[in-house]
Amino acid sequence: MRLLLVEDDPVIADGLIRSLRAAGHAVDHATDGGAADEALTQYPYDLVVLDLGLPRLDGMDVLRRARARGSNAPMLILTARDSLSDRVVGLDAGADDYLAKPFDLPEFEARVRALLRRRETSVSGRIEIGPLMVDITGRSAWHAGQRLDLSAREFGVLELLARRAGRVVSKEQLLESMTSWEDEVGINAIEVYVHRLRRKLEPAGVGIRTVRGLGYLLEKNPGA
Ligand code: CA
Repeated sequence: MRLLLVEDDPVIADGLIRSLRAAGHAVDHATDGGAADEALTQYPYDLVVLDLGLPRLDGMDVLRRARARGSNAPMLILTARDSLSDRVVGLDAGADDYLAKPFDLPEFEARVRALLRRRETSVSGRIEIGPLMVDITGRSAWHAGQRLDLSAREFGVLELLARRAGRVVSKEQLLESMTSWEDEVGINAIEVYVHRLRRKLEPAGVGIRTVRGLGYLLEKNPGA
């Protein structure tokens, strides 16, 4: 998943970025409201974590402008303004959830998981391709009761391919969903992840077909 974190406090931002990346997400970080507003016009993020007290443009304005443009990205608001009226204004303006500072990291992580889960097509957050089960919520893949040993990046590739199983996903789409501004992942790296993933998926009877010039397609192997 690709997330946008909008937070001007470097200490808080650092902790949250670490936590989100450990969960396997690509994270873009905006340190003021103007940069956040700009970023939101550039990419349809899977989730936006938005501080309200920001330089240049207030978080509430970032939220209102994004919703006015028709963005439906889930927004989790983080703020010290924890009075009831602020919560109501935030939710009315189109926020999906609200977390008052200071908060505990495990609670933040649980809220993020809950918001991302709502994005899932299936209620369980699981996608089955033949005998392979991809647990989007638990960020793991299973075959015959065994968890496959996948790196966070490999899971990222599998996740996007599984969400679009049977359809072609381009290398550029894989790259875009996995990389944030600071990452130095190139097209070649995508090929490496796909190559590794293909080997690991082989026992599960699921293949990644290369569609020359277009991209990759996840499919059940014939006979599997
Ligand atoms: Ca702030």
